[in-house]
Amino acid sequence: MADSIALLCAQALVCQSCGLATTRTQVVVGEGEVPSDLMIIGEGPGAREDELGRPFVGRSGKLLDRLIQEELGRTRDQVYITNVVKCRPPNNRDPRPDEMHACAPWLERQIVLVDPRVILLLGKTAVSRVLGVTGSLTALRGRRHDRNGILVIPTYHPAYVLRGGATRLTEMRVDFARARLTLSGGPHAT
Ligand code: SF4
Repeated sequence: MADSIALLCAQALVCQSCGLATTRTQVVVGEGEVPSDLMIIGEGPGAREDELGRPFVGRSGKLLDRLIQEELGRTRDQVYITNVVKCRPPNNRDPRPDEMHACAPWLERQIVLVDPRVILLLGKTAVSRVLGVTGSLTALRGRRHDRNGILVIPTYHPAYVLRGGATRLTEMRVDFARARLTLSGGPHAT
């Protein structure tokens, strides 16, 4: 078991534990500060991420960077960003349960090493994997979730917000502001 993020990255970069290994260009393990009080977890790499080996670097990444800056007062290197699966599903399809299951040890180890106080989950896939719950994201967001003492905040995936207009963006800003409130030592918003 990797006892440092550098070792975990080195091991994950050659992972062959599921079929996505045969279609990826490269493994997108994650990046940012370790340890960090805030971890952001998305679904899986897209085409640009697969090409560059970095999470959230396309249009969705630009929106994420903006929200990190405007709502959290940080830059992306002051949080830790990763995905549920580290290799791109072909044609940007949703990761399959067996792929998420195979990739789970990497994510679980990252959570231990990053040791966050707050986790922001971007999109339904991340929510179901990390919280183990299914159901509508609309029903799950806006509520406080606890995972072994970590405050978990479900919110939208930036790609969904980019397709959906101002209301979704406003709601995503509220979720990020909730994270900031907790990290600044304020009361947990619910
Ligand atoms: S998606 Fe995860 S489990 Fe599958 S090959 Fe990539 S790193 Fe390994």
